[in-house]
Amino acid sequence: MLKISNKDYVALRQHGEETYPYECCGVLLGRMDGEHKTVTSLARCGNTRTDSPQNRYNIDPKELIRIQREGRERAEDIVGFYHSHPDHPPQWSTTDLAEAHWIGCSYVITAVAKGKAEITNSFALAGHDENDKRLEDERIEVSG
Ligand SMILES: [Zn+2]
Repeated sequence: MLKISNKDYVALRQHGEETYPYECCGVLLGRMDGEHKTVTSLARCGNTRTDSPQNRYNIDPKELIRIQREGRERAEDIVGFYHSHPDHPPQWSTTDLAEAHWIGCSYVITAVAKGKAEITNSFALAGHDENDKRLEDERIEVSG
């Protein structure tokens, strides 16, 4: 389960509306307690994919390292990632699975139709390693 405040939930959905018709992407920071993840802040990222920004996203590894370091200074860990699917259902693609490497983390996808955020889904990356990893449906609990 992924717990997120209403403020962060609204913000990650808005990010997808702002970057429409391109995908947005960002990092979820917080605490991981077994399968319970609590988001305490978001870090927006620039989408470094210029070849196909409508249906691909990529976070610059240097940016990711910086986000991870700054999070640790606030006692926050990376608990997941989010991106948007412009004019596409909020289901993970085979590319999304192939490019997901953080076992235990959440992968949140928001469908943005004609510039409006619609359904937001979360998937947890389960498995032990790259060979048996899989994305499983996960409940999002929005609070306050
Ligand atoms: Zn995707």
